[in-house]
Amino acid sequence: MTRLIFLGPPGAGKGTQAQTLAHHKNIPHISTGDMLRGAMRERSPLGIKAQSYVDKGELVPDQLIQDMAEERLSQSDTSSGWILDGFPRTVSQAQFLDELLQKLGQKTVQVINLEVPDEVLIERLSGRGRPDDTQEVICRRLEVYRLQTAPLINFYRDRQQLLSVNGNQALAEVTNDLEKMIT
Ligand code: AMP
Repeated sequence: MTRLIFLGPPGAGKGTQAQTLAHHKNIPHISTGDMLRGAMRERSPLGIKAQSYVDKGELVPDQLIQDMAEERLSQSDTSSGWILDGFPRTVSQAQFLDELLQKLGQKTVQVINLEVPDEVLIERLSGRGRPDDTQEVICRRLEVYRLQTAPLINFYRDRQQLLSVNGNQALAEVTNDLEKMIT
């Protein structure tokens, strides 16, 4: 049973790797960023609330994200496993996820920390062309990562759930390392 969380800064390759692995294992790839972008495109109430945060590179409030994650993880296709990409992003989201998984009767989770040096991140993000990939917003997203998300590294390391992977390699190499590590 594969239940994985992808940690790592913006631009580390979480989305690409999560998608590839989910495809190989035939389990859902759950990206809160993709879900928010979908909601913003549709101008749904959630999308309208999220827009100003995403545009500025800030995190969307925990409660909105937690409701969205709970709804998604409660769907039946998650019983065979899942890969979470971009959630949790704060310690309180991680605590919420713990409680949710307990409620859903799901346990073992491995957490992948994709490590990539800052200068490579900035270079990658600058080349993606997403609306929240302007210079100013990129800097803010990296700062928000450092302040609010990086503490999750120790949170999961202390619980011996953390696996670190060198994300500064060719895509296929990273995938290969991941495939060897995960169960
Ligand atoms: P991503 O595609 O994961 O880089 O997410 C894009 C943007 O969506 C982030 O910069 C945040 O504004 C928002 N977002 C995605 N996931 C979360 C989350 N778990 N908590 C708060 N905001 C999120």
